[in-house]
Amino acid sequence: MGIVLDRDEIDALFPADLPEPAHWEERYPPRDLPEGAQVTRFSPSPTGFMHIGGIYTAMLDKAVAAQTGGVYLVRIEDTDQAREVEGAIAQFDKAFGYFGVMPAEGDGDISGRYGPYVQSRRSAIYLTYVREFLRQGKAYLCFATREELAASAAEQRAEKVPTGYFGRWAIWRDAPDDRVRARLAAGEPYVVRFRSPGEPVGRMSWTDLIRGTIETEDNRNDVVILKSSDQPLRLPTYHFAHVVDDHLMRVTTVIRADEWLSSVPVHLQLFDAAGFDRIPYAHIAPLMKQDSGARRKLSKRKDPEANVEFYITAGYPAPGLMYYLRGLANGRLAELPLDQALSEPLRLAECGVAGPLLDLVKLEDITADLIAAMKGADILDQVLAWAADYDPELASVVSAERDVALRALAIEREDVPNPRKDLRKWSDFREVYGYFFRPVFPLLTDPADARLGGLDPAIVRRLCAGLLGDYRGLDDKDAWFDQIRAAAAATGFAASPKEHKASPGAYPGSIREASQVIRVLLTGSTRSPRLDLVASVLGEDEVRRRVGAVLRA
Ligand code: GLU
Repeated sequence: MGIVLDRDEIDALFPADLPEPAHWEERYPPRDLPEGAQVTRFSPSPTGFMHIGGIYTAMLDKAVAAQTGGVYLVRIEDTDQAREVEGAIAQFDKAFGYFGVMPAEGDGDISGRYGPYVQSRRSAIYLTYVREFLRQGKAYLCFATREELAASAAEQRAEKVPTGYFGRWAIWRDAPDDRVRARLAAGEPYVVRFRSPGEPVGRMSWTDLIRGTIETEDNRNDVVILKSSDQPLRLPTYHFAHVVDDHLMRVTTVIRADEWLSSVPVHLQLFDAAGFDRIPYAHIAPLMKQDSGARRKLSKRKDPEANVEFYITAGYPAPGLMYYLRGLANGRLAELPLDQALSEPLRLAECGVAGPLLDLVKLEDITADLIAAMKGADILDQVLAWAADYDPELASVVSAERDVALRALAIEREDVPNPRKDLRKWSDFREVYGYFFRPVFPLLTDPADARLGGLDPAIVRRLCAGLLGDYRGLDDKDAWFDQIRAAAAATGFAASPKEHKASPGAYPGSIREASQVIRVLLTGSTRSPRLDLVASVLGEDEVRRRVGAVLRA
């Protein structure tokens, strides 16, 4: 292996004031942390929305750092500038905030001890090490064109060998200096490639913190480490940035998606070539979805629940989601009560090798239990905080009538053995409790409305008129219901479903159907909590207005 070009020629390819590696080593010294403290990082690329699997990974990063007295940082990996999506970073921050996985170090903290935490601002750091690799002959310039690379790949496919830049296809690996000089003189763009030390049929093995020992083919692909010289900002590839950043940020455990498993051989070669200590890896299996009988990866494209925005917009309470995700990571935690499960340690070794199934029905069981155990006032605060962003009309209506909201929420909730499990997320509030609020309750005026059970409209009207005759908002349950019983009897309804069944032709229905009419008129729905309680929150006047609406039409 020859060093291509003289040192001066190599240095001339870089800014004259580019620091030496020692500068960065000094600038980012080993962290002063207690024995065993882990430094973890979550490193999303701003190429789209935050995936729920990202929050899952960030949760593991944060837990492993917090449990050991270490540091969890977030690094934005924006080396693929063409694919950058506007607003992605702001959305990441929002998601970190919502789910409580804000980093201890990260963007916005560019003066931080180990920052900047955005790769496009770290260009000089990478260039120092690329230059060093070139000086030591561990990397070389490659002028291969897109067409040449495509032709190699086609040949490799035809020969049924892996595609890549190796062996006789690595055309610039041992190119004579004169050819390189000629291309440079002509101003042709080049990339810098790693000179992989891998043997043609070499094997290697390493130990993953989740998967244990893995034996695999070694890398012999001369991967690109620095992207094309015709770009205004010279940036490295993921492979190189990962190695340099995780070393200089003094990361101790790399937790990342298992799509990177196959890149471990090249990453370890790069750590070794740079003279950096290898960093243990934990490769996380992806969250899965049950789809027509089969399991598949949750898809960014197909599944709305892949996007964290889905949970934030619907208003899933963050502790419920985090409890669920913790249980998916470490099954043992799913058996524990929420508070305990949220404070127990998460163990990488207990994360499965197969991806866990994300099931929204299970999630909603958890969040319904969580909300059912909350006090009405706390529920209201959360609903209002959510609605301020996602349902402003509801926010203003409900905050104007806090008292109604609290009394509505108290129904069959506070001081009962089995509180209502009627809310699974904050956006359910409108559907479940909206009818308590005049401005958002659509008054039902048509006595032939299908929800009224197909009764003769004239009967519906008579029943309502009868109830309103001397209706009073009585507090006693039986006394209140007696008013419906009396009106139903006067309209010809049977006193019990049994009586009605015995001679169906003799009645329009029983007290059951009659009560149901009143329920629908008061709530707009055929299902509701106890009607006397609903009526008491609505108040006598509002009950009259709602029951009377079918008479006025
Ligand atoms: N930026 C990489 C990605 O979004 C992160 C991989 C890593 O965690 O090292 O896939």
